[in-house]
Formats: sequence, C-alpha cells, structure tokens
Amino acid sequence: MPEHTRHTMRMIASLCTLLALSACSSLEPRPSSSTPAPVIATASAWHDDVVRISNGSDNTQRREAIVHLLSAAGIDAIEHPFATERHAGTNLVAPVSGDTISPLLLLGAHFDKVDVGDGVTDNASGSAVVLELARRFRQSPLQHHRVAVAFWDLEEKGLLGANAYVTGDNEKPALYVNFDIFGWGDTLWMMVQGSGHPLALATDAAAQARGIGLSAGEKYPPTDHLAFHKAGWPAVSFSLLDADEIEPLLQVFSRGKPARMPKVMEVIHSQNDRLDQLAPDQVETAIDAVEAAFRAWDAGRR
Ligand SMILES: [Zn+2]
Repeated sequence: MPEHTRHTMRMIASLCTLLALSACSSLEPRPSSSTPAPVIATASAWHDDVVRISNGSDNTQRREAIVHLLSAAGIDAIEHPFATERHAGTNLVAPVSGDTISPLLLLGAHFDKVDVGDGVTDNASGSAVVLELARRFRQSPLQHHRVAVAFWDLEEKGLLGANAYVTGDNEKPALYVNFDIFGWGDTLWMMVQGSGHPLALATDAAAQARGIGLSAGEKYPPTDHLAFHKAGWPAVSFSLLDADEIEPLLQVFSRGKPARMPKVMEVIHSQNDRLDQLAPDQVETAIDAVEAAFRAWDAGRR
C-alpha cells in the first residue's frame, strides 16, 4: 500500500481512538465512593499507545512517542545511545517505582520496526504492554522489587539495543521480562528456562483465573531476551497469540514447513503489520493476567 494511503488510515485510526475515548469518559457513570474505581479506563490505553507508537514513520519518531507517553505518566526516560560498526541507535531506560535497595525487575520491549509495514504487532504491541505495566506499577508499586522499563532499539538488526545494555555499564536485573508480539490471541506464550519458575507458576494461576491460556517452555523465537541469556542474566519473554499458532510458528523457526501458516507469520515483517490485525479486548485480559502474576511473584519473594 502506498505510503500516503497508510498515513490516512493511521489518521483515521487515531481519530477513532480519540472519539472512543471521549465517548467513554462522558458516558461512563461515576463510581460511588463505596465501589472501587473501574479499571476500564486502561482498556483503550494500550490500543491508544499502539496507535501513537506506530504512527511514528521511523524508529526515532516511535521512540519520541514512547518518551512522551512515559512523561505523561510521570516517568522520566533516560536515553542510552549506542553504536556498532554498522548501526547507531538509542535505547530508553526509565525507573518506575520501588525502593532503591530492592532488587530490580526490568520490563522491556523493542520499539524499532522493519522497513515494511507499520510495526504494529511487531512490536508497538509489546512496547505498549510495557508502557501499561509501567503506569500500573507507578501507581501501585511492587512490595519487594524496584521496577524499571526499557525500550530497545534495533532488535530487528540483531538484538543490538538489548545487547548494548547488557554489555554496557548497566545494572544487572534480578529478572528481565521481555514482551514481543502481543496483538491478539487466547494464549500467553512464555519463554522460560527449566520447569517450576516462580513467575511461570504465578502466570499459570493468573491466566487460568481470567480464562487465558498459558504455554510455557524453552522453545521460542529469537528476541531480546537472548542478549540477556548470552551474558548469563536471568530473562524470560512473553508473547500473546492463538494457541494453534505456536506449533506451526516453531516449525517455521526450525526451518520446517507447517501445513498452515500461522497468522503471526502472515502479519509481522510485512505490509499486513497494521492496526486492523489487532484484537484489543483479549490483550487487555492478558495484561491483567501478567500484572497479577508479577504481583503474586513479588509477594512470594520477601
Ligand atoms: Zn519483534
């Protein structure tokens, strides 16, 4: 699709989101003092963030959108420029909440995109999950962990941003949790080494309670968590997709030929990576499950 057509579509999408937001806020009944504030306000925040990030026509504009969204949440991002022989990029790292003496939980996602498509599912979707979790942990910190967020540049060029963080003079987290591909689906796919990881157990319980599936294991496509593993740093990664996409996707990455190509392979790194592929309702439930899992995991680690 020509560039100007896609731009118009993006304008319409942002406008729709704005209209939907204003309709929500004016029609929604005010909670009485005895009922807790509804969390519905966040239902469109993730989608709005995805729109804002993927409206950026290049990686710099996408990064600037994230800086702006963090700032609106009262979170200051620190720019971490880096360079390799062939590329230069800039990561964002931002402290969110928690005591300075507490161990660090680092949540991250890559914000860069390939040249083709709008980089919506890959990976404005994961970046927006990290933004949403940042807001929630800013408002209600974990008890036993400091939370910081990171947004990696140049994942698509070979995990360059995450690699720059790990090999630079930066704090080693107690755990790094990556988010890549989070646009639709009924199942949280968790890359985790070994069995019985406390966060995997907590995610299983939180997902079950919300009717979302969990598939946890070591087989998983390459993304930024690998830069951490390479340094021997603890890291896991989450994706959201449909359960029946996982096996065929793994087949693709092991150079097999699945009988049916999973949706994710028809979308990412192609012109199809656009807003109209998303399913925000399911994503919201998945974000709720992940947040609950972090809180349960944190509570169990005094
Ligand atoms: Zn990606």
